[in-house]
Amino acid sequence: MTQTSYRQTYATIELSAIAYNTRTFKKLLAENCQLMAVVKGNGYGHGAVPVAKEALEHGATYLGVAIIDEAVELREAGITAPILVLGYTPPEAFSTAINKDITITLFDKQHVQSLGHTATTLQKQANVHLKVDTGMGRIGMQSPDQLVETAKAVHAHPSLHLEGIFTHFAEADCLESRFTNEQYSRFCEFLQAVEAEDMTIPIKHCCNSAGALYHPEKHMDMVRVGISLYGLRPDTALTFPVPLQQAMHVYAMVAAVRSVHKGETISYGRTHMLENDRKIATLAIGYADGLSRALSNKGYALLSGQQAPILGRVCMDQTMIDVTDINGVQPGDVVEFSIDHMADSTDTINYEIVCALTKRVPRYYK
Ligand code: PLP
Repeated sequence: MTQTSYRQTYATIELSAIAYNTRTFKKLLAENCQLMAVVKGNGYGHGAVPVAKEALEHGATYLGVAIIDEAVELREAGITAPILVLGYTPPEAFSTAINKDITITLFDKQHVQSLGHTATTLQKQANVHLKVDTGMGRIGMQSPDQLVETAKAVHAHPSLHLEGIFTHFAEADCLESRFTNEQYSRFCEFLQAVEAEDMTIPIKHCCNSAGALYHPEKHMDMVRVGISLYGLRPDTALTFPVPLQQAMHVYAMVAAVRSVHKGETISYGRTHMLENDRKIATLAIGYADGLSRALSNKGYALLSGQQAPILGRVCMDQTMIDVTDINGVQPGDVVEFSIDHMADSTDTINYEIVCALTKRVPRYYK
């Protein structure tokens, strides 16, 4: 662990957990099924480049990002593995994608000619995956006819290679829902329409983490694993069917420990008044670090396994916790914030908690 900051609030990222989780996912897949490590959003806040390198070393063969800039960052770090931009790529970025061998997602027939023309001009091939909307209501072609027409246009273009077709599940983490099965059936209909036209689709894919973990019969040719690659559950109410290791841990240091008397108030807006004398620790962490202000008077920090409730409002850089019942707390001590607890107590998902951690929080790789 190299110290690169004087910041007393930090996150540790255990790359061995990424390696372990990658290997665990690989074991769940058939031999010919690829594992895509989804490293968008700066690797869900963990650092896209180190996570991508670790995942590739341990069995991932494809990387997934949301936007072209994220793919370029990976290429500039020397990563040569296939990268798919899962979201929209503006036509003005097509030449960058082609030059850097970055696979583009198309969901609009209008873009086929423009991508093909750019590739022809560059005398290169552009690699394409087509996106189908089977119920997410976000992006993707909405009818098999539309897909077939677009697939034909890609297939017919000498500078374009139709490598894949994919869809995205809306609630694969909701185990009692039948909707994932419905989406899968619709996806199969889309695929059959293309295959009926004698076009081969090398990589068909639909599973995210929840799909990969809880719908093994839907793996197809590749699964796109994000949140659980980082050892986090797609829904905190779920249990993992296989053991995975959480890669990120978030820590903050105690800057001060003070005795505060009954009747005094804590933090902005005076939202917490002490009912009796308390021992309060002030932590060097706040919402500028990504600690949600919604945790005000709600969440807790962990000190030697004990819960210390947050009192008053979370400030931009500091947060107060009640350590009255915890012995021997001193400035310099370190508290941990549970990622899942922060998500549950602010009515959000762990995805948002890890992505919200700002640049000001140094990441130490172990
Ligand atoms: N595939 C697509 C298209 C996505 O947008 C995402 C993330 O939202 C993923 C895969 C990975 O999902 P998860 O993090 O739930 O594994």
